[in-house]
Amino acid sequence: MQKGSLFVVSAPAGCGKDTILNELLKKTDKAGYAVSATTRAPREGEVNGVHYHFLTREEFERRIAEKEVLEYTEYCGNYYGTLRKSVNDLLNEGKDAILKIEVEGAMNIKKLFPEACLVFILPPSWEVLEKRLRDRGTETEDKIVERTKQAHNEVKFAKNYDYLIVNDELENAVSDLLAVMRAEKLRRARNDELLAQFN
Ligand code: 5GP
Repeated sequence: MQKGSLFVVSAPAGCGKDTILNELLKKTDKAGYAVSATTRAPREGEVNGVHYHFLTREEFERRIAEKEVLEYTEYCGNYYGTLRKSVNDLLNEGKDAILKIEVEGAMNIKKLFPEACLVFILPPSWEVLEKRLRDRGTETEDKIVERTKQAHNEVKFAKNYDYLIVNDELENAVSDLLAVMRAEKLRRARNDELLAQFN
């Protein structure tokens, strides 16, 4: 059995990252989402252990001390971190582990696991992203300006990623991501055992 691979997916808010990943996971049972831990409060509809492991700050800090957290960051006043167990459970099942994390976490994962594949999702344009944020109708003008600024900062990191996907059409973006994952599995470096059979 080929061991699962590690995929990191990042995108600024409003780029449709969650929707793309939800659709992708409906189409493949060979990958799973590595559930992160956070100290932020659950949003409506979010389920503990499915969307995040929702922890208190004390519990989160205990897990850091116990080396249960592979990487973590403080984002908008809350801790977010990748749990070693979430990743290992998937990889040991032979599944690809998808980490849905922000840019600094992605850079840390790349340092820890140079073979990880980093994918950045872009909006079709800045204008479209701003429109999407406005159309949500849930944010104040100040928040929209703040999120747009943050998006500009995050996109600066995209040059360090392995693949870029533009989310213009959901279906295209999902099939692009599936194509990236498929191609990664075919890398010679991931298939030494296969090649050894022919030597
Ligand atoms: P949200 O609060 O909207 O769910 O997430 C806020 C940001 O934190 C998103 O960019 C999300 O990708 C990122 N994030 C979620 N989990 C992790 C994690 O485990 N590590 C890091 N570094 N970022 C994360």
